[in-house]
Amino acid sequence: MLDCAIIGGGPAGLTAGLYATRGGLKDVVMFEMGMPGGQITQSSEIENYPGVFREDPPLTGMELMEPWPVQCMHFGLRHEMKEVKRIRREGDRFLVDLAKESVEAKTVIVCTGSSPKRAGFKGEEEFFGRGVSTCATCDGFFYKDKEVAVLGGGDTALEEALYLANICSKVYLIHRRDRFRAAPPTVDRVMRNDKIELILNATVEEAYGDNTGLQGVRVAFNDGREPLDLKVPGLFVFVGTNVNNAVLRQEDGSFLCDLNEQGQVIVDLKMRTSVPGLFAAGDIRVDAAKQVVCAAADGAVAGMEALHYIQQQEG
Ligand code: FAD
Ligand code: NAP
Repeated sequence: MLDCAIIGGGPAGLTAGLYATRGGLKDVVMFEMGMPGGQITQSSEIENYPGVFREDPPLTGMELMEPWPVQCMHFGLRHEMKEVKRIRREGDRFLVDLAKESVEAKTVIVCTGSSPKRAGFKGEEEFFGRGVSTCATCDGFFYKDKEVAVLGGGDTALEEALYLANICSKVYLIHRRDRFRAAPPTVDRVMRNDKIELILNATVEEAYGDNTGLQGVRVAFNDGREPLDLKVPGLFVFVGTNVNNAVLRQEDGSFLCDLNEQGQVIVDLKMRTSVPGLFAAGDIRVDAAKQVVCAAADGAVAGMEALHYIQQQEG
């Protein structure tokens, strides 16, 4: 039986493995269905992970993550490139269901992350990470004193539009209706911000550019107005996120532990879920800041707590 099964090999999962093995757990496996590194490996530039900075050319997400597996596996963490289908509780142990087998574990740390929803317009995938972004904190500074567009009408879109307005010369906020889903005080702040121009009853039809990146977006209106061509090098898409919580779903449709209404795993400050021995870390958890440094910190806490849990159980 494994001491600890870690599901997901992004910053949270890798760091959980580092802390669990370096703390003394012997049998720790990280199930990551792809190469370890997580979603940050899709980013062309990262400049807010402390201690690692390169200006020209900027550090890519892939470069940031490249040394992590080497260090995190140095103390005994093993990577199995397998997709986890489901985690189950049976008595005082967990069962990690893979495609063809089940693996027993004393503790499980779920680090499966979240995935920003795609809006579905033409060019979205092609320019993702090259002008199309889902993270203003990460990428906003690349457009300092430039014009950008934001797509969406929820809290995230409006809050991020306000954040971008502090950095960029202008923010076009594109929303498919004339009413925002966001909280009224946030809407008020957006309305009062001179740098934000609302483009309502509109959707992005196409993002276009060349091999240097995004050059603009074509906007279509649903109230009969002529389409608009915005020559912006940055488009931020905030149309909601999907939490990758499928591994927690049980055969009867219920979830193994408590989630909030957005499907995020509810944890305490020790990354403990409602099920003893089950931890969650990184983007999947409630109130996640959705940053690499925060996911890594969560992973460290969860790794240490898995160790404490086993020590307590075994007296
Ligand atoms: P993830 O990185 O999402 O990793 C989860 C891992 O779990 C994935 O590798 C996935 O393959 C694996 N997985 C999922 N389900 C299963 C399963 N069933 N079985 C096995 N494996 C599974 N943050 C910053 O701090 N700075 C930035 O500049 C920045 N830029 C970003 C740019 C982009 C384009 C994106 C998309 C994100 C950016 N972020 C940035 C956010 C950052 O990437 C995330 O906050 C961070 O990666 C979350 O880490 P995580 O370990 O929780 O999850
Ligand atoms: P959200 O509330 O689901 O909003 C998504 C927005 O994107 C909506 O305005 C939606 O339009 C639009 N949209 C969806 N699909 C689209 C598409 N394909 N093309 C164009 N537009 C599309 O997501 P969120 O803003 O990320 O917020 C998620 C949850 O977190 C919400 O409950 C929110 O309240 C909460 N949140 C809270 C805070 C806070 O309390 N400060 C901050 C951030 C998030 P429609 O409105 O027409 O559906």
